[in-house]
Amino acid sequence: MTLRIRPDLDHLPAYAPGKTVPGAIKLASNEVTEGPLPSVIDAIADAATSVNRYPDNAAVELTAALAKKLGVTEDEVQVGCGSVILCQNLILVTCEPGDEVVFGWRSFETYPLATRAAHATPVPVPLTGDHVYDLDAMAAAVTDRTRLVFICNPNNPTGTVVDADDLRAFLRRVPSDLVVALDEAYFEYMRPGPGQAYDALELRREFANLVVLRTFSKAYGLAGLRVGYAIGDPQLVTALRKVHVPFSVTSLSQSAAIASLAGDDELLARTDAVVAERTRVTARLRELGYRVPDTQANFVWLDLGEAALDFATRAIADKLVVRPFAGDGVRVTVTTTAENDALLAFAEKFVG
Ligand code: PMP
Repeated sequence: MTLRIRPDLDHLPAYAPGKTVPGAIKLASNEVTEGPLPSVIDAIADAATSVNRYPDNAAVELTAALAKKLGVTEDEVQVGCGSVILCQNLILVTCEPGDEVVFGWRSFETYPLATRAAHATPVPVPLTGDHVYDLDAMAAAVTDRTRLVFICNPNNPTGTVVDADDLRAFLRRVPSDLVVALDEAYFEYMRPGPGQAYDALELRREFANLVVLRTFSKAYGLAGLRVGYAIGDPQLVTALRKVHVPFSVTSLSQSAAIASLAGDDELLARTDAVVAERTRVTARLRELGYRVPDTQANFVWLDLGEAALDFATRAIADKLVVRPFAGDGVRVTVTTTAENDALLAFAEKFVG
């Protein structure tokens, strides 16, 4: 017997997360290596005593804390169970079957998967030869069926960023009612170079169609608790609230996120160490002959083409888990000096 499940899902792969291999160093999911701050662990423990109750569905306290920190109003903020859910929900609130979602490619796998799951049509636009989002080509790909654009900045998995002027020009060129999602999951690691600096929240005030996505999973180190947020026009936030899966941001997660915002200085200081390491790792990999684009995230992209799978498979034998994209490249998280040294030693061996 075949159950009445949508036949088109037969052709849709499930999201494939980075592997965890017991005893190996995991550099596959852009996580931070350090655990949460003691104050955050205390907040989680406190919240644990009341898990017999449903969480605050509207995440009132967390929403208020975010609004205050970011200088926006509470009706411009929507919290979600990871920013991945907010990506999915943005598609749900903008697209009807057959509508189009434009994004750069290669980029975050959720964009095409969630688009197809929503009966919409993915429109992937190849990155430039430098692995950067091609905003000109993306603007040209916008049609009267386009309902949503994702700009992943820095881009996962290449780590590259767009120029600020190009972003502004893109926003001026596309229809002002077309929702543009600026996915800044790695925002806290950005140290913009000349021409790359922009203020997403200021852009958002200028362009009502812009929605900014950020997360507590990366620099804030709460990947296991699933909290992300969107900052957008109240119209869009109202729509996102309608498709929000009730109670999907747990009370533990909300408490941990609030405590993490309070420990912001310490957490953000940790990003400086990763930034220094990524400079070192990038330089050494290039010295070894790898093609590595400039990255503004907590990972590097090794443009290995057909050697990508081989690199990842042999890395596992050396107890290192990296993220291969077959036939294209490998993404490796930049973490602590010791873990990065293990990666560099393997990378040297691989070319040797
Ligand atoms: N956007 C990008 C670009 C990402 O890389 C990720 C995580 N891999 C997410 C969104 C989702 O992050 P989370 O759901 O953990 O907030």
